[in-house]
Amino acid sequence: EEKIRRIDSAKDKSRAREKDSARLKVEENVFDVSTLKLLYTISNKGIIKALGGSISTGKEANVFYAEGSEKELAVKIYRITSGTFNAMDVYIMKDPRFTNIRNNKRDIIFAWTRKEFQNLKRAKSAGVRVPEPMLAEKNILIMEFMGENGVSYPLLKNTPLEGDEIKLVYDTIVEYMRLLYKEANLVHADLSEYNILIDPNDVTPIFIDMGQSVTLEHPNAREFLYRDVQNILRFFSRYGIRDKPEELLTKIQAE
Ligand code: ATP
Ligand code: MN
Repeated sequence: EEKIRRIDSAKDKSRAREKDSARLKVEENVFDVSTLKLLYTISNKGIIKALGGSISTGKEANVFYAEGSEKELAVKIYRITSGTFNAMDVYIMKDPRFTNIRNNKRDIIFAWTRKEFQNLKRAKSAGVRVPEPMLAEKNILIMEFMGENGVSYPLLKNTPLEGDEIKLVYDTIVEYMRLLYKEANLVHADLSEYNILIDPNDVTPIFIDMGQSVTLEHPNAREFLYRDVQNILRFFSRYGIRDKPEELLTKIQAE
């Protein structure tokens, strides 16, 4: 009996190892060596206790679940290399004409990561519910995990709302847009049902994905705000909300 138990446990371990190495293989193909090294350094500092599975693969970034020392974390990693760029790399690396482009691409991504960190910080200070940012280093952003037991809260898009919930969620989103604008001096600039999570415990919205958010000084800030407003109104029209974009803009920009 003891023997069977030992064999089972050995099997489980080897299965877990196989899974782990399969996952790492995927990551190896997605991430360059310096990103993997950085991930390793961050883990050694004790911020990440254990890297978990993939939460999402987006256009520019991958989001992973991680166990932190006190709480659950989300690790957003902006990809520096795509498959095709990897192949190009071999040819470009030794060509002095292209060293700048390589650096530029990395620098732009690093700046973008820092910007998302700062935007989340500002949003949080303004009273908008967002994941608390913990660390931004190069192309890796570590933040509070918005979910429970390793499962992210659902997107607004996938959360059916009923009765009072509709007005509550809608009004809170508008209030968050106002706080962003008035207190944080920011426009989200990619706001839609795809970048808002719903906490099912109190049915309240959480804004995410703020890498592209801009300050009001940005020449296109007003245009981005108008687009955000239109996205929100388009989504909530299914729930019978018929506010006019101009009304909403006035509310958001109100003193
Ligand atoms: P896309 O290109 O699909 O818009 P993205 O690369 O811009 O994605 P995000 O929108 O920031 O990245 O995150 C992608 C998904 O990962 C989200 O829809 C959400 O499900 C999950 N996610 C992101 N941040 C968190 C977080 N802090 N806690 C829990 N889940 C998160
Ligand atoms: Mn997104």
